[in-house]
Amino acid sequence: MQKVALVTGSTSGIGAATVRRFAADGFQVVVHSRSSREAGLALASELGGTYLQADLSQEDQAAGLVPAVLDAHGRLDVLVNNAGISWPVPHADLDGLSAADWRRLLEVNLIAPWLLCTAALPALRDAQGAIVNVTSHAGVRPKGSSIAYAASKAALNHVTKLLAAALGPGVRVNAVAPGLVDTPLTADWTEAQELWKTVSPMGRAAQPADVADLIAMIAAHQYLTGEVILLDGGLNLR
Ligand code: NAD
Repeated sequence: MQKVALVTGSTSGIGAATVRRFAADGFQVVVHSRSSREAGLALASELGGTYLQADLSQEDQAAGLVPAVLDAHGRLDVLVNNAGISWPVPHADLDGLSAADWRRLLEVNLIAPWLLCTAALPALRDAQGAIVNVTSHAGVRPKGSSIAYAASKAALNHVTKLLAAALGPGVRVNAVAPGLVDTPLTADWTEAQELWKTVSPMGRAAQPADVADLIAMIAAHQYLTGEVILLDGGLNLR
């Protein structure tokens, strides 16, 4: 029976590269987005998969996504919590982040992945499956587009380890923590682009396919669990 992978936020950037990679690996893929329905339907049809729309900042929609996958496919082998939001706020500008900003970032970047993990657990147990959370190097070191964003990703890194400890051996849980990746989210982050070009050992930002390759490797690995794998082209070494 064909394995099924759900990748949230998969009509652009890292998510789109990840569904392409899973489809190439023989998975039935579920493409998801908040709003870009046309792009989602087109990508799902190209890959022979399904498209589902859900705003993950809304609790009922986040909780309903996995049941919709199970209705369509009857199983779930891999859940990739990729959808996320981020916008630049200088770390010293404490007034630049309101309580509403904090709630918005935590809703999408932390609470929605939790709701998806919760809903997916029985199916993942049946499949001896895997969860891969897409976090950020900003959740590992004191960096990133804003303090609230970095805190949301640090929290998801910790949840990754706690869940891995709680859910083994039936379900493996890991995170990929990318540095800068060339996606629509970072198209105008010129300072960061310059940093990765001039300082990182790899001399460039990651491409979405670089991240997708690691996500697919992690999902396939039958022993790896509880790891947060930094994928920053070695920037942290310099
Ligand atoms: P992107 O903007 O191309 O993708 C983000 C996806 O999240 C989009 O598909 C969007 O529809 C989805 N999304 C956002 N809010 C949503 C909501 N309320 N409901 C449902 N879906 C929602 O950006 P990307 O760079 O591919 O980001 C993917 C992930 O990688 C994010 O979690 C991001 O934080 C993380 N990340 C990105 C970088 C980078 O440099 N691009 C670095 C580290 C981590």
